Amino acid sequence: MLNAVKNLLTRRQIIGSGMGILGVGMAGLVTRNSPAIAQPAYKPAKEPPIPDEKKLGWAVVGLGKFATQQIIPSFSQCKQSKLVALVSGDRAKAENYARQYNVNPKNIYNYENYDSLRNNPEVDIIYIVLPNGLHAEYTIRGAQAGKHILCEKPMANTVEECQAMIAACNQANRKLMIAYRAQYEPFNLEAIAIAQKKQLGQLKAIVADHGRNLDPKDPADIWRMNKKLAGGGSLFDIGIYSLQAARYITGEEPTEVCAMTYSTPNDPRFKEVEENVNFILRFPSGVLANCTSSYGYSSTKRFQVFGSNGTLELDPATDYYRHQLTVKREKVQEERQIQEQNQFALEMDHLSESVMQDRQPKTPGEEGLQDVRLMLAIYEAARTGRTISVDSRE
Ligand code: NAD
Repeated sequence: MLNAVKNLLTRRQIIGSGMGILGVGMAGLVTRNSPAIAQPAYKPAKEPPIPDEKKLGWAVVGLGKFATQQIIPSFSQCKQSKLVALVSGDRAKAENYARQYNVNPKNIYNYENYDSLRNNPEVDIIYIVLPNGLHAEYTIRGAQAGKHILCEKPMANTVEECQAMIAACNQANRKLMIAYRAQYEPFNLEAIAIAQKKQLGQLKAIVADHGRNLDPKDPADIWRMNKKLAGGGSLFDIGIYSLQAARYITGEEPTEVCAMTYSTPNDPRFKEVEENVNFILRFPSGVLANCTSSYGYSSTKRFQVFGSNGTLELDPATDYYRHQLTVKREKVQEERQIQEQNQFALEMDHLSESVMQDRQPKTPGEEGLQDVRLMLAIYEAARTGRTISVDSRE
């Protein structure tokens, strides 16, 4: 942790020691000559949380890497959501986490008795953190058990599965939200506001890159090499962030996609799923987005936006913390200073609030369906070598 802060300081000091561009005296901006300030990864929310008994109760399904390292610890930062139940195939593991996070052992379920969550009034919302190929089944069963659903990205493997998930939640009159955490994360929200308020002038191009090296020794990466469980390769797992960024920065839906894929021959990781996908999206306003997605290059999570009067870069853009947003206009380069917040807590509280206020969450099932539709069009474009027209959202 200390090292990470040291690295951050070093990086920012390097930026700070750059050429002498004039600072602009605006709150919230760090110019090249401003002192570097390291921010804590997570800062507790300012307002006091509502009393525990008023928070909505959540069950987390799947106690894998992401659930145990990011999601479950984040409930402590939530203002409207509390962890009350766990669903796992491994009872001992679930008991361990139940002890650690003060979950009543009577609220531990497995995949067989999952449906009996219907009899547990403490649980309002189910968070599905399973391999992608299981999202549809557990969302549908969860909705049929009368619970609202937060489902991890990608929503599912096929358009038909996504449609069935939406239909099941509608039929049960339950909310369905897809866990697009970047759409709740303050640096990404700032980048969206800058782009959409035309602070960069007319948007012209977006470049978005998301990749990492798939590690066959990591248990969390085993199912990611299996097409049935993963739905696709790097695109379904991490390239989806490049696709999302292009969509939320423009606020538009693409009309055409073209793409190429490449997987290193004989690399056993890529027998069933692809390593690399580069794709271009055309948006109605004329913005072209160049996106890359890889399971072969080292960890990269960034995007750049190019407008007629300026550019912005968010790098990292979709990490869990320590985002860095640089805006360049005319001759001024600014580093935006924004309070980091726990994006998982913000995301979960958004759904709790949507349930309490009976309103549609910002990233509903239809948002997840659109990405699945587009990712399948990207694969089709790569397979056929053609530019594929994509219909606007139904
Ligand atoms: P993981 O392998 O660590 O966790 C998956 C969990 O599902 C494990 O506990 C495993 O035991 C359980 N499981 C149940 N049935 C299984 C089966 N048939 N095969 C394999 N596992 C089974 O994976 P993860 O990295 O935690 O990913 C889980 C989900 O979370 C995925 O949908 C992934 O895309 C998503 N995710 C999202 C983010 C994000 O930033 N939003 C980050 C990481 C993962």
